[in-house]
Amino acid sequence: MMSKVFRSVTRFSMTAALAVLSALGSGQPPKTIAEQQPFDGQLALQHIAQQVSFGPRAAGYEGKQKTLDYIQQLLQSQADKLVVQQFQTQGLRGNNLWASFYAADPKLRGQSRIMLAAHWDTRPIAERDKLASKRSQPVIGANDGASGVAVLLEIARLLSNQRAPVTVDLVFFDLEDMGNIDDLPFSIGATEFVRQNRFYRPAAGVVVDMVCDRDLVIPQERFSRDGARDLQDQIWRIAQSQGAEAFKPHKGSYIEDDHLPFLRAGLKVVNLIHWPFPKSWHTSGDTIDRCSADSLQQVGRVISEFIYRQGEPL
Ligand SMILES: [Zn+2]
Repeated sequence: MMSKVFRSVTRFSMTAALAVLSALGSGQPPKTIAEQQPFDGQLALQHIAQQVSFGPRAAGYEGKQKTLDYIQQLLQSQADKLVVQQFQTQGLRGNNLWASFYAADPKLRGQSRIMLAAHWDTRPIAERDKLASKRSQPVIGANDGASGVAVLLEIARLLSNQRAPVTVDLVFFDLEDMGNIDDLPFSIGATEFVRQNRFYRPAAGVVVDMVCDRDLVIPQERFSRDGARDLQDQIWRIAQSQGAEAFKPHKGSYIEDDHLPFLRAGLKVVNLIHWPFPKSWHTSGDTIDRCSADSLQQVGRVISEFIYRQGEPL
């Protein structure tokens, strides 16, 4: 494992050096790290296929443990630190996963850090299905659950090859999607994460949720706008510069999601979410055939430029 890591770092350094040399020779500006090793939407789509193949990731389904193992196994070999935080609340058990990739410069390790997060659970009921008989069945959650995880796992691949200028924490929340079932709230896992880790104060955070639809539309979510406007503007500037058309320069709605517990704790965390929700939302139609590698790639490339350009003037 060590030699594999060493080889990939060496290969990357050679690629980077060649890119700089050829850029100098051609008079072009050197490519950014995000351009040298781009986020690959096809690889992200494969992470969705894998999660979906495990079945629903709701309590009582074997897909839940399989997905936990899948994420854990991938990150164990890539991250500098991996913690699984178990919790019990409101009669439920959950697991949040927290993987850290330390800043490239060891001197900056303890300084500012940023968080990228997504929920890995899926909803146990498809209450919005057209067919009444399907409404008590679980959703498969290709979009609502797997897509956010897939973006984070592809970012983990990039970070394992090349650390960012700041420490990046990838956090996977359990039990986001129990809202309005037996009077439970949304974002149980994210709320527990904030409660268990009061010392954790990232300089910025991005929550990704429902980002694979082939007709992806991401307006500026309103709680994020109210609580983390500068950060949201920064992300939208990157999207605009990349021509990422899924990002719309208008205000969206107020959406309850995993960013809320962080905003309430005074942290700057922005939510990237499809709005208005696609028709497949909380139905049996939330399947991978609705997902597009291009949509995932647009979101992933914006986020990867955001993390690799940390520390640069805005
Ligand atoms: Zn949901």
